[in-house]
Amino acid sequence: MLLGTLEAGGTKMVMGIADESMKMLRTFSCPTRSPEETMKDVLGFFENEKIDAMGIATFGPVDLNLSSPTYGSLTNTPKLAWRDFALYKTIRDALSVPCAIDTDVNAAVLAEVSFGAAQGLKNCLYLTVGTGIGGGLMCEGSLVHGMIHPEWGHIPLNRSEDDPLTRGVCPYHAVCAEGLASGPSMQTRWAMPASDLPEDHRAWDLEAFYLAQICLTALLTVSTERIILGGGVMHHTALFPMIRTHLNHMLGGYLMHERIKDLDSLVVPADLYPNSGLIGGALLALDKLSGN
Ligand code: ZN
Repeated sequence: MLLGTLEAGGTKMVMGIADESMKMLRTFSCPTRSPEETMKDVLGFFENEKIDAMGIATFGPVDLNLSSPTYGSLTNTPKLAWRDFALYKTIRDALSVPCAIDTDVNAAVLAEVSFGAAQGLKNCLYLTVGTGIGGGLMCEGSLVHGMIHPEWGHIPLNRSEDDPLTRGVCPYHAVCAEGLASGPSMQTRWAMPASDLPEDHRAWDLEAFYLAQICLTALLTVSTERIILGGGVMHHTALFPMIRTHLNHMLGGYLMHERIKDLDSLVVPADLYPNSGLIGGALLALDKLSGN
């Protein structure tokens, strides 16, 4: 069995062919340009492959309402050329195989629960912190979609009084997670990319303060058993202990559970990064074939 998988990102598209054990047999990537140019490369990759099903893990926002006539289309993405683009329909019609689509972060949490940092768990959040912030949520073993899909990147945060950035960089919200804690927010705040910030820069403690608030919300709202953090900003692994320290302080001793006593195994790095989304796409394809 051959499974096609696409991780559709705002800056690049990554394609892969996997077998049923999720081993990637071939991969290819191309930069994300206009939908027309980009889809030519994407479909070209799959054209000569005899895939049995296709899974798409995409950036969002995306219409995932099964009864919607625009199911699988991107909606109000800031990437204007892609707004309203019928990603799912274009691929399904071109490849003529069973096709599944979900957010890149939902695909990532599916992959991490199946093969990575949250194996055996049924309640898990995968948070990506990079150009944007997004979260994929599994509750009681099911991926959560809800009315649209959760938007962890846009939950409001308490802005630190010591934050030199008086307004977050999100065009929609003054103090949301993405506006205050994404890579671009760090770049704007400190006038250099996060990757250039020295180890002892106070930027990291501020970043941990914001990310801990997202973790706190996840624990208090959906009682997640593990929080997996991936994405470019999380390459700075010193953030993990800092986030745990802030989180512990914010919890204030309220939640009583064995897992809370062990924040080292509650807030963890992604195991499969940077392939979580690609593997998740293949898992979506496999689920589609299984009739899920
Ligand atoms: Zn926002």
